Amino acid sequence: MRILIMGPPGAGKGTQAVRIASFCEIPHVSTGDIFRAEIKGCTDLGRKITSYLDTGKLVPDEVTVEVIRKRLQQPDSHKGFLLDGFPRTIPQAKALDGILGEMGSALDLVLNIRVAPQALLKRLTGRRVCRKCGATYHLLYQVPQADGVCDSCGGELYQRSDDTVETVTNRLDVYQKQTAPLLDYYRERDLVREVDGELPIDQVWAEIEKLIRSFA
Ligand code: ADP
Ligand code: AMP
Repeated sequence: MRILIMGPPGAGKGTQAVRIASFCEIPHVSTGDIFRAEIKGCTDLGRKITSYLDTGKLVPDEVTVEVIRKRLQQPDSHKGFLLDGFPRTIPQAKALDGILGEMGSALDLVLNIRVAPQALLKRLTGRRVCRKCGATYHLLYQVPQADGVCDSCGGELYQRSDDTVETVTNRLDVYQKQTAPLLDYYRERDLVREVDGELPIDQVWAEIEKLIRSFA
């Protein structure tokens, strides 16, 4: 399946994406993860984009689209993929249509994880991520067994540099202005299915699993 997961920052996309990718046996393609790996690796691309991530601004479309084009050309994407964090603008969505058209494919499903804006700040500032395997935790909602240590690999948990109050406020604003309009773009094609992202994590997954099974 070719799935796009949408929702504001902190909606739970990454948390659910891990389960979806494993259930559907498809790669989880997250532009945020790709960009953070480039920054960590001190690559030319990493140096070019670091200030965008630090301030919560969007990386320019032409840079982002080329990153996705390369990623979707890799053999593991041919059986399907789960996009997380891309597209984020209408020009990116149009570019994705072009890339998929060249591959002779198209999106099957857009999952929209809905969470009220007032819950998002708390979700993002309490988020902790494993430095080693990327697993996501929360200080209140998904607490690791040992403080600051990843349950699955024992790696150190850290707070993303863009999960500060100031940057989160900017990211939520960018989402409303530039990314939320994409939902109508996909609604016109009847691709969007809504998911209540305020339920506990396992219940959100149960809703998503039901939706995916109905497509199989
Ligand atoms: P996104 O990828 O959409 O930015 P994440 O999946 O990283 O969001 O989730 C943001 C934070 O909220 C994480 O700390 C995660 O543990 C927590 N979280 C995710 N889903 C839920 C949920 N259904 N209820 C409460 N907290 C959640
Ligand atoms: P995320 O991990 O999805 O929260 O993304 C973290 C940051 O990476 C964003 O705040 C942007 O700076 C950048 N980013 C990720 N995906 C995109 C995209 N599709 N377009 C532009 N910038 C992006």
